[in-house]
Amino acid sequence: MSFVIPPMETASVAVSGSEDRFPVRRIFCVGRNYAAHAREMGRDPDREPPFFFTKPADAVVDDGATIPYPPQTENLHYEAELVVAIGAGGRDIAADRALEHVWGYGVGNDLTRRDMQNAAKELRRPWDLSKGFDRSAVIGPLVPASEIGHPSKGRISLSVNGEMKQDGDLAEMIWPVQDVVAFLSQSVALKPGDLIMTGTPAGVGALVPGDRCDVVIEGVGEITTLIGPRG
Ligand code: MN
Repeated sequence: MSFVIPPMETASVAVSGSEDRFPVRRIFCVGRNYAAHAREMGRDPDREPPFFFTKPADAVVDDGATIPYPPQTENLHYEAELVVAIGAGGRDIAADRALEHVWGYGVGNDLTRRDMQNAAKELRRPWDLSKGFDRSAVIGPLVPASEIGHPSKGRISLSVNGEMKQDGDLAEMIWPVQDVVAFLSQSVALKPGDLIMTGTPAGVGALVPGDRCDVVIEGVGEITTLIGPRG
């Protein structure tokens, strides 16, 4: 079989300590998974079931990249997140078996056009383009769970130009990784290559051209993103 236009390249993220890369199938993201962030977004952090949104696979950006300030926003926000990489698929996965489906973990930054997202919320429109724009998913080198295990606690922090903006702990997640995987697998059949961004702690805020944004997760790694001029 041949294609009528050239087939697209496989989107991928780096793997720590390896030349090999992890192919990306889909990117799922959890909304409001830290109570203090839910509160700052004006929501009551009841332990309601997690909800999900997505980004295109080819929105991924490696650690160290310069990202042109995206179009159609005056309020680009950072969100520090633990990223889960699915290595074995499944549906209706039990929470107590869910970590067996995780290949590894990475440090992520869920870039968000916050003004567009706020308008979408008001107008009851979808979030797709406020969350899933080009280069909106910064994801650093994945570390295999076979090396670091499954982090359930550890500091997650983000700084802009060296000033601390987010400072939380993975243990503060309303729904920990195994529950997120279990819930998501009730909605879609998970497949190898799926990534899950697991939500952000409190302290989200804006990035402007010229900013340097660093995200660090204890025991997982760190990423740096530079914001370039409007592209
Ligand atoms: Mn997020």
